[in-house]
Parts: sequence; C-alpha cells; structure tokens
Amino acid sequence: LKYSLEKLHFNTYKIKELKIGRDFIIIGGPCSIESEEQIIRIGKLIKKYGGNVIRGGAFKPRTSPYSFQGLGMKGLEYLKEAGDITGLPVITEVLDVRDLENAVKYVDMIQVGARNAQCYSLLKELGKIDIPVVLKNGLNTSIHEWLCSAEYILSGGNHKVILCERGIRTSENYTRNTMDLSAVAAIKYLTNLPIITDPSHGTGKRELIEKMSLSSIMAGSDGIMIEVHDYPEKALSDGEQALLPKEFGAIVSKSASLVSVR
Ligand code: PEP
Ligand code: MN
Repeated sequence: LKYSLEKLHFNTYKIKELKIGRDFIIIGGPCSIESEEQIIRIGKLIKKYGGNVIRGGAFKPRTSPYSFQGLGMKGLEYLKEAGDITGLPVITEVLDVRDLENAVKYVDMIQVGARNAQCYSLLKELGKIDIPVVLKNGLNTSIHEWLCSAEYILSGGNHKVILCERGIRTSENYTRNTMDLSAVAAIKYLTNLPIITDPSHGTGKRELIEKMSLSSIMAGSDGIMIEVHDYPEKALSDGEQALLPKEFGAIVSKSASLVSVR
C-alpha cells in the first residue's frame, strides 16, 4: 500500500460548501430515487434536519432481477435538481463503467457499492475522474483487500477517496450485516483516508441505526450515511431500514455533540 498511508490524501477539499477532512459528513436520502417529486421533497427534508449530502440510487444493484432497478439517467437529472435546489452535494452509486462519464455530469460524488468493491475495471476508471468517490467495503472483503481497492483509485490519480463501512457478512443473521466498527478504528489507525459508516445497510434494522451511528463516531468515523424516507412503507427499495426525517434529525443532533467531545 502506497497511497492510502500518505498524508497527501487527507488534505481538505470542498464539495460545494462541505469541507472533506474537516466537517462531519452526514449523507441522508432514500435508497432509490423514485420520482422527481420524491427526491426533491426528501432532499429538502435532509437539509432541514441537518444533513450535508443527499443520496439517491438511480442504478440499483438488486439481488433479484425482478426487483426495482432504479430510474437510471432520468433519476440523476432529478437528483441534480434536488442538489441545485438545496445547495447540497449529491451522491449516487454507479454500477457500470459505461454510465460513469454521464453520471459525473449530474452528481458531486460517486458511490461504489459493496458488490462492486472489487470491480477493478470500474475502480481504474474512477481513478481518472476528479470528483470524490465513496468506496464501500465488499460483502466479504478484508481490510487489506478494501484498501487495495482504494489504491486502484488513488494510484490512478484521483486522491478524493472516502471509505464507507457498510457491514460484512458473518454467521449472524438477525441483522442484515454485521457492522464492523473495529475496521473503522483500524482504518483510522492505519491510514489517513477519511472513513464514514453506513448503519442502514450495516444493520438493516431501523431500530439499531441510531445506536450504531453514535457508536461509529466513537470508533473514529468521519461521517454517516443513512437511508431516509418520509413514507418508508411505500419505498421501492429498503423501506424496512429507512428512517423518518425527524429520526434522522435526532441522530444528526446527537452526532454533533459526540463529535465535539471525542
Ligand atoms: C445502497 O447504498 O443503496 C447500497 C446498495 O449499498 P451497499 O452497496 O452497501 O449494499
Ligand atoms: Mn439501500
């Protein structure tokens, strides 16, 4: 590992008004962009409750090919509108190298999902762009393998990598995944890369998200990514783990006090 250990990559940089390397990153929004109206409405609520980045999936990596696959490029137009209206940066996942060139015109950050954490052709292309990449760990990647994936992007010339712990597969099946907070502490110990946590996918259970968000801050997390929906029962994906906007707001306020004391 060469790049992830260097100070260089922890320089602060701005995405709209958000200062990476200084501000606590709070990404909120629906699993999927469902309509223009939905992402703008939820985007405004994310801003109202203190989030500083809006998320929304347009290319969805669904287990079943018969599940909702996302609105594709049309969804990104709607997400960009939500970003323009609120002034907040927006992030979306890209699954396929062929969509990258278009996607970067609409979003401020690109997410690499767990299922693509070791898609080296995609990682190499992400090394050539100059917007931040949120790189999730794979379903079963070791810390070393995860950092090697980060190195693909960093060594390609894109130094704006933000890691995101989203849970790993273990023998536990009460939770959707097992949030690996020791990996967060280890990454902070080993590297200078910013790392955030995703307790929504990490636990899959809305009642656990606040506690795991706050715990991850003590483990060293530089931010959180939380799925938020104002009508979770109608969500087209991951409704069972979506928090209501005001529940998201409660986590945002508690996070602020923890970040200031750690
Ligand atoms: C997501 O963020 O909606 C997502 C699909 O996440 P993951 O890749 O962590 O499963
Ligand atoms: Mn999701």
